[in-house]
Amino acid sequence: MTCRAILQYPDPRLRRRAQTVVHFDAALQGLVDDLFETLYASRGIGLAAPQIDVPLQVVAIDISASASAPQVFINPLILARSRIGTVEESCLSLPGVSGLVKRPTQLRVRAQDRNGVAFERDLDGLLAVCLGHEIDHLAGRLFIDALSFFQRLRLRRRLAHTGVARAQVFSAGAAPASAGSGTIAGRG
Ligand SMILES: [Zn+2]
Repeated sequence: MTCRAILQYPDPRLRRRAQTVVHFDAALQGLVDDLFETLYASRGIGLAAPQIDVPLQVVAIDISASASAPQVFINPLILARSRIGTVEESCLSLPGVSGLVKRPTQLRVRAQDRNGVAFERDLDGLLAVCLGHEIDHLAGRLFIDALSFFQRLRLRRRLAHTGVARAQVFSAGAAPASAGSGTIAGRG
């Protein structure tokens, strides 16, 4: 297992659309192992393969406090979504930045495990939020794309201090967010 470097915003490789996994071979097993190694070293709860510069639809998640419950979602597809909540999110590709986004807190998802075996699961709470965040990564989306105008304004000021290109924060349009029910903190 190898701990890989995590691409940092605004690296354009974070905007690529990930490809479907076809071969569940030794290379894929190595990728899954590396994703978890990198996730645990970063103390995150979710990591998508594009974040370590591998444009494949592979997501590693572990929301347990003891890093003892790894879950892999390969080629994940959301079949149903419900209970939209307002969620405070951050991202391993944007260290030190968080923001409130609206996201389903219940998902029904179809995916494959690391051996290629297909499964369907109902997820809720933090797990649903985290997988939603990671599936966005597979499509080249970042949580800051969905921030309200005022949140992005604040974020732009903060990123200015860290030297990140400010214009990037306003590159995607988003409707202003209004208050929802329930707050879940996610970091992926
Ligand atoms: Zn992320």
